[in-house]
Amino acid sequence: MATNRTFTMIKPDAVEKNYIGGILKMINDAGFKIVAMKYTQLSKEVAGEFYEVHKERPFYGELVDYMSGGPIVAVILEKDNAVEDFRTLIGATNPEDAAEGTIRKKYATDISANAVHGSDSDENAEIESNFHFTANEKH
Ligand code: UDP
Ligand code: MG
Repeated sequence: MATNRTFTMIKPDAVEKNYIGGILKMINDAGFKIVAMKYTQLSKEVAGEFYEVHKERPFYGELVDYMSGGPIVAVILEKDNAVEDFRTLIGATNPEDAAEGTIRKKYATDISANAVHGSDSDENAEIESNFHFTANEKH
């Protein structure tokens, strides 16, 4: 996969509050192109595997319960400098620290239910995209 892609999920809190449309509009307005998208719900097992890197963190159990507690939208995005630009667009992990104009500032509830995921490196963008989509879905 080219390095001009990143992976995002619209998280259960944002889906529940009907923010899918608003978040996708912010993503499109910022110049990202959607190249794959799926509405789905993660099992506890799959959510636990996705966040395995955080397994030793105190919030891991809560995170897995939350991420498997309702539907999500998984999306692969394309843009020049996608990973870094998308992290800027979503804002800080804790919405209290997120800059004005960011997705988390506008749509996040708290540090756990923070509306969206964004890959933190080109390498993880590829791993996370492959985790959620098959080769044929990624065209
Ligand atoms: N998280 C949490 N409590 C914390 C830190 C993180 O519940 O103190 C959750 C939150 O949903 C966050 C996810 O764990 O988005 C992954 O954490 P990370 O540090 O990778 O933040 P991100 O990359 O999502 O900004
Ligand atoms: Mg992260």
